[in-house]
Amino acid sequence: MSDPQTVSKSLASRHALRNVKAFRRTLLGWFARNGADYPWRQTEDPYAILVSEIMLQQTTIGSVIQNRRFERFLDTFPGLHSLAEASEPDLLRAWEGLGYYNRVRNLQRAAQTILAEHEGAFPATPEGLESLPGVGRYTAGAIASFAFNYPAPIVDANVSRLLSRLFDWREQIQTSGSQTRLWSWAGQLLDSDQPRSFNSALMELGQTFCTPRSPACPQCPVRDFCATREPEKLPLKRTRRAPVKVDEHVLFVQKRSGPVLLAQEGGTRRKGLWRLPERSHHQLADLPLVDTRHYGITHHKVTMHIYHCNPSHVPPPGKRTTEKFYSAREINELPMPSPFRKAVQALLQA
Ligand code: SF4
Repeated sequence: MSDPQTVSKSLASRHALRNVKAFRRTLLGWFARNGADYPWRQTEDPYAILVSEIMLQQTTIGSVIQNRRFERFLDTFPGLHSLAEASEPDLLRAWEGLGYYNRVRNLQRAAQTILAEHEGAFPATPEGLESLPGVGRYTAGAIASFAFNYPAPIVDANVSRLLSRLFDWREQIQTSGSQTRLWSWAGQLLDSDQPRSFNSALMELGQTFCTPRSPACPQCPVRDFCATREPEKLPLKRTRRAPVKVDEHVLFVQKRSGPVLLAQEGGTRRKGLWRLPERSHHQLADLPLVDTRHYGITHHKVTMHIYHCNPSHVPPPGKRTTEKFYSAREINELPMPSPFRKAVQALLQA
């Protein structure tokens, strides 16, 4: 007797692929009636689409839309030249609050590469686009299909989830075998006459109906094509690393006339941004604690302890670092990670 899982998997594959034309018709019909009118869907400009794709890599659509981050970034850097020539502080300031600042550095490097090596013209194929800094297989497929209507498949987190349920795929999706399978399905399902609309529709279905925790199967437009009976259990993923708790001890030092002491970040992740200066807990243990805040970064849960310190008694930094006093007006212009921006604003208003 065959393994039930194998039977279910092969039925799932045959079922969906046998009806692929009907699937496309159904999906595209639903999208034509219900697709969201996101600002990056109102353009075919590859530069704007590159910006939106990089911005949406680790930031939710809701947050980008609500704060008009896409439009504001394009107002600041309307094209390749303005982005390629931007100073680092201006670049980081324009990305503030979105986190993962290497994304905007890569965006600038991509603009510089297009100007220097492609005479300012975007590559129009996934292979050409993948040669740009910060552009992986998904982003290349997205720009190729959304900007050039090129028949390139895309697989992001939403599409992975949707496909693994549609085909009832019961293997961990991070493995290379699963990735090959998912990309292959995305390619086979793709409507090569309408890749722009098809890829948008697939992503949107994943965002709106086929959600991670409570998929809306009874209302889903493609439910007749879907093989899984246990959508909540899919996709199978490796267990996540447990968040690591970190304590951060920082100083709030303000001169009588108002300027606040800030330190410039080194390292790689937030290099160039300004923040409250950090010291060891031991150095600050005798100072008054004025605020405690919490924020998350990658898999860290950070507790920020803020101590008040007199400008004439600032403990020396443990490592070489740039520290300077800035007025409130100057701080507004400096790039700063948003947890520090909020903390400084609250302390200045206290
Ligand atoms: S029927 Fe449910 S599990 Fe299947 S694609 Fe639709 S929302 Fe996802």
